[in-house]
Amino acid sequence: MQQYKSAWRESSVVADTLDVGSPSLALVIGQPIEHSLSPMIYNTAFAIDNLNWKYSALEVSKEQAQDFINDIREDKYVRGVSVTMPLKEAVIPYLDQLTEAANELKAVNCIYWEEETLTGHNTDGDGFINSLIADTGEGIPGSVFAVVGAGGAARSVIRSLRQASAEKIIVINRNHEKAEFAAELGGENAEVGTLDSVTNCKYVINATSIGMAGTDNEGMLPLAARYLTSSQTVIDLVYNPIETPLLLEARKKGATAISGIGMLVHQAALQYQLWTGNNAPIEKIQKEVINIISKNN
Ligand code: NAP
Repeated sequence: MQQYKSAWRESSVVADTLDVGSPSLALVIGQPIEHSLSPMIYNTAFAIDNLNWKYSALEVSKEQAQDFINDIREDKYVRGVSVTMPLKEAVIPYLDQLTEAANELKAVNCIYWEEETLTGHNTDGDGFINSLIADTGEGIPGSVFAVVGAGGAARSVIRSLRQASAEKIIVINRNHEKAEFAAELGGENAEVGTLDSVTNCKYVINATSIGMAGTDNEGMLPLAARYLTSSQTVIDLVYNPIETPLLLEARKKGATAISGIGMLVHQAALQYQLWTGNNAPIEKIQKEVINIISKNN
């Protein structure tokens, strides 16, 4: 148990701040964690807001999840935790309560204190909706969405599209059973479809990992360009590279192309708001994220 405390207490970012009063800490946990963009995102926001907070990345395995949660209950400095793979489900049994989103999705990406109650939440879906509205200026009600993919990201997006009153959600996935399961989160306006249905959808969302840098699927398209039209808005949840093969094809067709960076930043902004009570400086963070990803590619 002690090992986690020393891990964050000894990290340079924390040691730098211990002399200057009592900083609040936030952490991202997962495995692997070294490539996480979260420390950059949140530390940028804390600096802009002039808050005495620090954010660090900590490698925690599934087997260590319970000890980690026990530790943060005892550590008054840790005020927020971002949770990533493979812990989104693994932390659930050790929390005091879940929000409706986390409960429906059976996945937690954010832990915060609601007074004395350690609460698990999921900001991915609402981060997606907020970014879509910010990027397009358009509303969700009355619109038809194709969601390609049925994993964790797809499920959170489908759930929030239901809540935002999307007119229709068509879920398309390689594994049909997973598509059925994900479509249930979309309620009565969601159904499982095939790629042929994409052409008639105003919004096309890639929620698969196809096209992601550093994977076997790098450089690949989640769906053929022939399914896209100029009147569509195509959103790729993959944010590295910034210009994915899908977004390049969408632009060639004359469609509006939107990167997953917006969702990444907006879901983080919702966590930031829960922990600090402040609105995150979204535009400045987004600029930093784009700079860093561009430099690394
Ligand atoms: P996940 O739970 O592992 O789901 C992966 C999805 O991709 C599944 O639907 C899977 O289909 C599909 N897939 C993977 N390889 C495939 C292939 N070769 N052919 C066809 N389908 C394939 O992952 P996730 O957490 O949902 O994440 C999906 C992507 O979204 C990742 O790239 C992640 O980085 C991104 N993401 C972005 C944000 C953001 O803030 N922008 C947030 C969360 C996730 P099967 O079910 O058939 O296996």
